[in-house]
Amino acid sequence: MTKSAKTSYAIGIDLGATKTEAALVDAEGNIADRQRTPTEATKGPDHVVEIVVSLLKKHYLRGSERPVCAIGLGVAGQVDSESGVVRRAPNLDWRDFPIRERLEAALKLPVAVLNDVQAITYGECRRGVGHGTRDLVCLFAGTGVGGGVVVGGELVRGVSGNAGEFGHMTIDRNGIQCSCGNRGCLETFVGGWAIARRAREAVTAEPMRGAALQRLASGDVEKITAALVGNAASKGNGLARELIQEAGTALGVGLAAIANALNPELLILGGGVVEGLHDLVEIAEQELRRRALAAALKPLRGSDHQYKGQCCQRTHSGMGH
Ligand SMILES: [Zn+2]
Repeated sequence: MTKSAKTSYAIGIDLGATKTEAALVDAEGNIADRQRTPTEATKGPDHVVEIVVSLLKKHYLRGSERPVCAIGLGVAGQVDSESGVVRRAPNLDWRDFPIRERLEAALKLPVAVLNDVQAITYGECRRGVGHGTRDLVCLFAGTGVGGGVVVGGELVRGVSGNAGEFGHMTIDRNGIQCSCGNRGCLETFVGGWAIARRAREAVTAEPMRGAALQRLASGDVEKITAALVGNAASKGNGLARELIQEAGTALGVGLAAIANALNPELLILGGGVVEGLHDLVEIAEQELRRRALAAALKPLRGSDHQYKGQCCQRTHSGMGH
């Protein structure tokens, strides 16, 4: 028997609305293998459980060559990690679904469930760009905006598991309505849906200035997306650049509040909006540096990659709408 044959492995799963990815991880945190499959979320939670179970059984739970001792699952949505229940996952259309209980019954292994960005945050702290950092924050902007916090090397979950919901910090108390029902949340500025909406409104209000954006959307204002705004801005389109300026400034306002409140050493930004919108991070960083307390800024490391964690590229790539 070789040394590796005695080592225990864990499985990490990223359960998304369109695809589910699984990775086999050794005791040192190295990824030994990855697999992915369509989630088929529209067929309901029972079907998704079957998809996950068959993926793991097919690739990782046959034979004892690489024995698996536990499973960790990240889900986009509000997760009660104590009970392993997904309270609300709009993209999957789940409410109060006991995913841990269902997977443990089917797989006969312990399962831990976390909000996906919290899981990313902890992963970045332990093995990613935040390795060696004890206080860090992740903020991911895709269709929605999620976040995670590590303080003193420990993931902060909050009493009901919702710590780090930075997307729903109020930036403008009189702003537009958010997906959460509140007004003027950070998500209403940097969520993919919000950037698309603001772009459509700007094009409708100023058709001349919006002509290029409308052309890129094949003439249909309703087809303007955040990704399209990013494309137009990278070609120098003035309106698209203005829209990104507005989003980046709002993001910087939010980051300054986070820096003042939590005093992290590292802010990791990621998600499809962060990757797809030219100059967004630079604009946000300027605003952060203008607004945050000097004492909060001082320990922040300043080089580029720390603001754009590699994690961002390999997860959450959708910009939505
Ligand atoms: Zn909100």
